[in-house]
Amino acid sequence: MTLEELDLKYIWHPCSQMKDYEELPPIIIDHGEGVHLYDIHGNEYIDVVSSWWCNLLGHCNPKINEAIKNQLDKLEHVIFANFSHKPAIELCQQLMEIIPKGLCKFNFSDNGSAAVECALKMAFQYQYQRGKAEKTKFMCLTEGYHGETIGALSVGSMDLYAKIYRPMLMDTIHIESPDCYRCPLGKNRDSCGGECICHAEKAFAEHAQECCALIVEPLLQGSAGMRIYPPVYLKKLRELCDKYDVLLIADEIATGFGRTGKMFACDHAGISPDIMCISKGLTGGYMPMAITITTQEIYDAFYDDYNKGKAFMHSHTYSGNPLGCAAALAVQKILREDNILENAAETGKYLHQKLTEKLLQKPYVGEIRHIGLINGIELVKDKETKEGFESEKRVGYEIYKIALKKGLLLRPLGNVLYFNPPLIITKEEIDCAVDRCVSSIEEYFGN
Ligand SMILES: *Cc1c(COP(=O)(O)O)cnc(C)c1O
Repeated sequence: MTLEELDLKYIWHPCSQMKDYEELPPIIIDHGEGVHLYDIHGNEYIDVVSSWWCNLLGHCNPKINEAIKNQLDKLEHVIFANFSHKPAIELCQQLMEIIPKGLCKFNFSDNGSAAVECALKMAFQYQYQRGKAEKTKFMCLTEGYHGETIGALSVGSMDLYAKIYRPMLMDTIHIESPDCYRCPLGKNRDSCGGECICHAEKAFAEHAQECCALIVEPLLQGSAGMRIYPPVYLKKLRELCDKYDVLLIADEIATGFGRTGKMFACDHAGISPDIMCISKGLTGGYMPMAITITTQEIYDAFYDDYNKGKAFMHSHTYSGNPLGCAAALAVQKILREDNILENAAETGKYLHQKLTEKLLQKPYVGEIRHIGLINGIELVKDKETKEGFESEKRVGYEIYKIALKKGLLLRPLGNVLYFNPPLIITKEEIDCAVDRCVSSIEEYFGN
């Protein structure tokens, strides 16, 4: 049997209709270098989706490789209750330098969904322990995505992932999110005053007293198709949370570590959340690790004699894994020393300009929205009315298959094609990736 056949014999791949693999067998990757992946047959792919948005500084980055190898010969893992280690401590110290102010207590877990679950439980228990036992619900934005576990799905609202499980999910308050491309108020993302906050205002007035927290993806609703909304809206959400005594949880799992041009998306709005979740880029996409970070005030509400029963009895076996911390420390060092964000600001501009130049005039490209190096190309059936293609046509998926043949990993979100490449991508690599992308789209549409 070939490796492809053996793969399909055993492996149930994530987020996939496995029947699709009859036509598009799994691509078996042998090795990676920088933005490139190479399969066992010698084909090369440019990874402009950062292997699910986590690869921050390129595949097999020599400095991160070295850091993990060094750590490996010292300590691979240790129980994190009562025990600790230098890489975890140093990592917190270094993160303190870059995270929004006020955040200072770090609770480790091993994936994004787990960090979200941790945030939800923390917010709930915090409110209970400060005498607000009636605050049991969560608020969230429509089209939000926060992971796949039951709690995380409950505060997400994308039918694609959650619909079938509705009977299992918590009852949450959904606030209509900004939809800047098709703004119902006829405003423009770059000049509006975040007027669509009216939906949130209404929801807060009606439900805030029963809500412990609001969770949001700051500025970028990634899974919904790289939907981008302006900082002013996030700022207004922070104000509403303050006014109505609701905690703000910022899910920076996708947006953290320079993806939006600043270290964190919250920085664009100049706000600090009460709880922040980070993962993905944290270890450069090397090791599964996540952190839920919170304030002294929230931490203090759990701090008492053991018998008072206030402790946060939440744990994950791999909390604070030393290899993950070593990778994360290497990432921090590279971000600090190698001008990564400055360079990415430059290449980010270049990428958006290239895509705009080559694609925006096409009749089937509705919008090319961007923040940092992230660009979302929304394909539409009718540019005037902004009507989208029927989902059954799977336009994005068809283009994805063509792009793979041309050496581009461009996994779409419905009919939104997107670039979210490692921050170290060069202009030459961008030229090559954009050419492959444009020719794939043109091949599909025939022009
Ligand atoms: C990816 C993602 C998650 C979930 O992280 P996993 O590690 O896949 O569980 C949660 N929130 C956002 C915004 C994400 O992009």
